[in-house]
Amino acid sequence: MLPQVIIIGRPNVGKSTLFNRLVGKKLALVDDQPGVTRDRRFGEAHLLGLDFTIVDTAGWEDDDPSSLPGRMRAQTEAALDDADVALFVIDARAGLTPLDEEIARWLREQSVPIVLLANKAEGRQGDGGLYEAFSLGFGEPIAFSAEHGQGLGDLFEALLPLI
Ligand code: GDP
Ligand code: MG
Repeated sequence: MLPQVIIIGRPNVGKSTLFNRLVGKKLALVDDQPGVTRDRRFGEAHLLGLDFTIVDTAGWEDDDPSSLPGRMRAQTEAALDDADVALFVIDARAGLTPLDEEIARWLREQSVPIVLLANKAEGRQGDGGLYEAFSLGFGEPIAFSAEHGQGLGDLFEALLPLI
């Protein structure tokens, strides 16, 4: 069985774009509107010779913010149990949001290794968010662009010892 890598993050940070980038097919829906991915999606990822199952999640995409913590547990905790690594994705252009912090707090309580991706970091517009991401406590964030395929080598190096 291939190792499993799960993508976690608030809506619109680029999780499905990352999934598509790693799978190489348009398996996950990408949209400008948050909440497009309704279910967990599994794909076979290939990254510079590293093969793993990649899981796109939508556990934090909910119209009702008051039910957020419950849905986090219900939809994502079981998925996280099966995962060997979690890719925690933030939007470097938008900077950190309260929901990012909430997800980070929750992830710190989990035992799975975390790799932090600061997505949308192409160009200079992501520099502030990239710096902010250090404060999440998951070490150095990988400057990444799912849309432009930047940071794939750094992601490979981060995953290699973990899977
Ligand atoms: P999800 O809700 O986390 O699954 O996010 P999506 O993958 O659906 O992407 C949300 C939006 O961000 C879409 O408009 C994407 O085209 C855009 N996006 C994703 N990755 C990047 C990136 O690396 N750079 C930029 N500038 N936009 C991106
Ligand atoms: Mg999505």
